[in-house]
Amino acid sequence: MTPEDIASVKQLLASPRKIAIIPHRNPDGDAMGSTLGLYHFLKQKGHEAAVIAPNEFPDFLAWLPGADTVKVFERENDVAVKILQEADIIFTLDFNTLGRIGDQMENLLKSLTVPFIMIDHHQKPDDYAAYMFSDTSYGSTCEMIYHFISALGEKEYLNTAVATCLYTGIVTDSGSFRYPSTTGTTHRVVAEFIDLGIDNSNIHSLLFDNHSHARIQILAKALQNLKVLPQYKTSYTALSQEELASFGHNKGDTEGIVNYGLSMKGIKFTAFFTENKEEGIVKISFRSKGDFDVNQFARDHFSGGGHINAAGGKSTEPLEATIQKFITILAHTKID
Ligand code: 5GP
Ligand code: MN
Repeated sequence: MTPEDIASVKQLLASPRKIAIIPHRNPDGDAMGSTLGLYHFLKQKGHEAAVIAPNEFPDFLAWLPGADTVKVFERENDVAVKILQEADIIFTLDFNTLGRIGDQMENLLKSLTVPFIMIDHHQKPDDYAAYMFSDTSYGSTCEMIYHFISALGEKEYLNTAVATCLYTGIVTDSGSFRYPSTTGTTHRVVAEFIDLGIDNSNIHSLLFDNHSHARIQILAKALQNLKVLPQYKTSYTALSQEELASFGHNKGDTEGIVNYGLSMKGIKFTAFFTENKEEGIVKISFRSKGDFDVNQFARDHFSGGGHINAAGGKSTEPLEATIQKFITILAHTKID
């Protein structure tokens, strides 16, 4: 954002407003952390703020401060539509195109004329927002929310609720501070959060040591199904709808599993396919080490996108056909 944009946004937020804050569909730690972090900031400033999630958020994020106030568009449609229609300002966080919130919500947002503010770190942002803070050099939208609050000159509103939410997305989107997007600034920002009094060790436990038995069984199945293609420095695994259902699958149970495929020596690229028969799609997560650009790969072949080392996509073909397509593409792909 230019200094002029910051001044305009500051002006917009100078008096109490009705504000809707929207994460992407299937929200992850960064999407929920950034929307709830901003929510706690705006509430303290006297705004009437609400987070409207397109669909359910995973259980492992239900402890986030304010998670109980989130309205789920798919489940609480009437109330969510009303909040969106009455909003004076709409923040869209952690996504770059309205396609990431689902058709019904996208159509509703397109009918609104109030200013949109996008804060996001994905490539190729669409041009729907009056104010855009879009920068792929940041490892997380949560870190960007910190800089946004800082640019507004309102760091006095950073309290433990804001900081706990923002810390969560910084941790989850950086793979616990290990991805290359982690900078000295990232560490300085979280140092401030720790000095503010967040319970950082407990946040890690809540995020990563809080799994259900079903989740561990799903992980075990995914590891059993893991295939290695050494000639392509690639691994992949898949879970069918039946396999997921057999463990009593909950949203979020598959989170993070993709990373195991990348934890092997000599592997530079991994994919994780999950079948979702209700939505008629196979959801795919891609991860890479080094220079192999999975964002481009997901865009080129699987209607997706994301970042250079972490991206996602989907296929409407059956699971086996999707995997075969993936293997066929690998033969024409340079991975090193
Ligand atoms: P995940 O594999 O954890 O679902 O997603 C990894 C990254 O890719 C995230 O930054 C996410 O926003 C992005 N991503 C996942 N699925 C899609 C998709 O279908 N389309 C686009 N454009 N990005 C995606
Ligand atoms: Mn993110």
